[in-house]
Amino acid sequence: MFERGALIHYHEIGLKGRNRSAFENRLRQNIAFATSALTDEKVERIASRLLLRSSDPDTHEALLRACAAVPGVAHVSDVLTCARDLSEIGHAARVALEEEIDRAGGAASFAVDARRSSTDFATSSSQMNIAVGRELVDALGLRVDLGDPDVTVRIEVVQGGAYVSARRLAGPGGLPVGSSGRVVSLLSAGIDSPVATWRMIKRGAVVVAVHFSGAPFTSGASTADVHDIAGVLVPAAGLERVYSVPFGELQREIMLATPPDLRVLLYRRLMVRVAEAVARCEDARALVTGESLGQVASQTLDNIVVTDAAATMPVLRPLIGTDKQEIITQARLLGTYEISCRPHDDCCTLYLPRSPETHATLEQVEQAESLLDVARMVADALAGATIREFPCAVVRSPSGRFAVSGTT
Ligand code: ATP
Ligand code: MG
Repeated sequence: MFERGALIHYHEIGLKGRNRSAFENRLRQNIAFATSALTDEKVERIASRLLLRSSDPDTHEALLRACAAVPGVAHVSDVLTCARDLSEIGHAARVALEEEIDRAGGAASFAVDARRSSTDFATSSSQMNIAVGRELVDALGLRVDLGDPDVTVRIEVVQGGAYVSARRLAGPGGLPVGSSGRVVSLLSAGIDSPVATWRMIKRGAVVVAVHFSGAPFTSGASTADVHDIAGVLVPAAGLERVYSVPFGELQREIMLATPPDLRVLLYRRLMVRVAEAVARCEDARALVTGESLGQVASQTLDNIVVTDAAATMPVLRPLIGTDKQEIITQARLLGTYEISCRPHDDCCTLYLPRSPETHATLEQVEQAESLLDVARMVADALAGATIREFPCAVVRSPSGRFAVSGTT
């Protein structure tokens, strides 16, 4: 009877002054991308909101959820659209509230929150609240509770029509993918780096991931798990491709030539150099890791300084001040935690020293590195890389300054 849709609200991008329309357009395109398998409808701009009409009841729920997964979206209202007419609005409010009571399995109290963005609508917001509220009390016998209602019925009257909703899905917030440039994320199959990667996507970055496996000395389990983690991030549409780099032989070379306590730092510095080579080829401007200060030996401040000295690009660490427990909570919400807990032997488990250095100096590490042919090792790593593509809202092919061995 009423047409349905997803009314999409955004906070932060509303604050971007002159860039506002670029951000809005980016968000519109990303929502269209995220819902392309579900609808052909255009994403419309309506009074600082976006509207996606829902023509098929069978895909309505999936449409709402797809919109609510897009970075830049603050929340999505499940709306009924109607004319700017108080009795139609009241009717839609009743339908929406009844549906929400059904869905939630009951409700005792409600509130009406009406807004009009165009003052040419004769009835004021507070008059709408009172009139519609009274109608709903009479029809459904619920109690009005303005402080902590079980359900809030929201009414938005704009230029061309009115939107009525009794249900809101929280979005991730943040910024639309494609509004913050490109980064290369070092993605292990552990708990932290998927969360760090997600945080960058949420802040609007397009991410290319690089994973280092222990191949040929370990199974392909860690690469398969990283691909599954990338699959979990697909609804946000910000992870473009995953490079998998066999790292086992290179670790063996380091293990054979250098002091055991410095090994982990030497692995990490080599990873940074390989990731930077990928970043140059991908036109990415920074690296990202899942490191958190002091979490393990390689993440003491001294060792972070030594790792960063191998980088020429900024190394972003979105989790640097986050406790492990907070990271686990976020990984659970995200849906990557279970995958990260699977047993997988990636390169981190290979050739680990008994007591890694916690306070290395750059001189020590550079001295050890002088025993290695670092440039050749980077070239070997890149030559063995394979790539897998993932659906991303903003796509750009690598400029191909090095050849990778194939796609998986
Ligand atoms: P995570 O930090 O993802 O839980 P982890 O705990 O196994 O993985 P750490 O030793 O904490 O790894 O490594 C710190 C960071 O270095 C990771 O967050 C990740 O960014 C990067 N890193 C470590 N191992 C790998 C790998 N095998 N492939 C890609 N990046 C890695
Ligand atoms: Mg970690």
